[in-house]
Amino acid sequence: QGRLTIGVRVAALSGQHVLLLIDDRTHSRRVEETRRDFVVNVSHELKTPVSGLTLLAEAMDDARDDPEAVHRFAGRMRTETSRLARLVQEIVELSRLQVADTLDEPVLVDVRACVKDAVDHLKVVADGKRIDLTTALGDLAVPAQVYGDSNLITTAIRNLAENAVAYSDPGTRVGITVLPDEDLVTIVVKDQGRGIPAADLERVFERFYRVDAARSRSTGGTGLGLAIVKHVCANHGGEVSVWSEEGQGSTFTIRLPAARPAIHQLAHPQDTS
Ligand code: ADP
Repeated sequence: QGRLTIGVRVAALSGQHVLLLIDDRTHSRRVEETRRDFVVNVSHELKTPVSGLTLLAEAMDDARDDPEAVHRFAGRMRTETSRLARLVQEIVELSRLQVADTLDEPVLVDVRACVKDAVDHLKVVADGKRIDLTTALGDLAVPAQVYGDSNLITTAIRNLAENAVAYSDPGTRVGITVLPDEDLVTIVVKDQGRGIPAADLERVFERFYRVDAARSRSTGGTGLGLAIVKHVCANHGGEVSVWSEEGQGSTFTIRLPAARPAIHQLAHPQDTS
């Protein structure tokens, strides 16, 4: 870190003159290192479910005379397989986001619709855990629009909301609030869950970083959710931040640049037809 990498090439030689081309390769070196680390992480993370599946297949084979045990092992294999599928899907999603710094074709996105989509998927899980999941969409007279990719924004909000529900106890509340203004659309996801120790706060956005690996695995976590949120925000020119206190809960805040009203709307602000 903080190291500069330069490339030096002799571009031309003529008589007494030498033309040296020096370029800054710090960025490309960093990209290369990120890619290498990612491959190492990914192969390590894939090993766990794959060896789990191998063991389960062997156990199933040994238990072929006990239909109840076979049924149980088959169920556990299905759980491992869906975890593996989710891991692969998130790896693909994250590597795509890491390669591109920006979005190809941003379109106008209604953040409120993204919040509704994200929450719809989660309502059943929250109800099952007796967690009161509420949304506040802010002053509806103020548009909550950004330029970007609605699927990615929905994924980012859903990842935060899923964590809020996963790391909270029954009987607590999870609130998602949209706060639009002229410059920014802010989305706040607040829970009253277990919180994150101060020492881990800075690192939770790193891929595969988990505060408690066993707990994350038991909730079906991949350790990639927050890394995806961070990259989605960066690709939209925004950012994500976190406040948390152990035993009190956590608040994650996404801030995205608001889409500016079109010129003709600015020229006729009173025209609402
Ligand atoms: P995971 O798939 O493990 O949830 P994430 O990248 O989404 O991975 O989160 C990284 C880690 O941050 C989690 O393993 C968990 O320890 C911690 N974390 C994330 N969100 C919360 C939250 N709302 N409350 C408590 N801990 C959280």
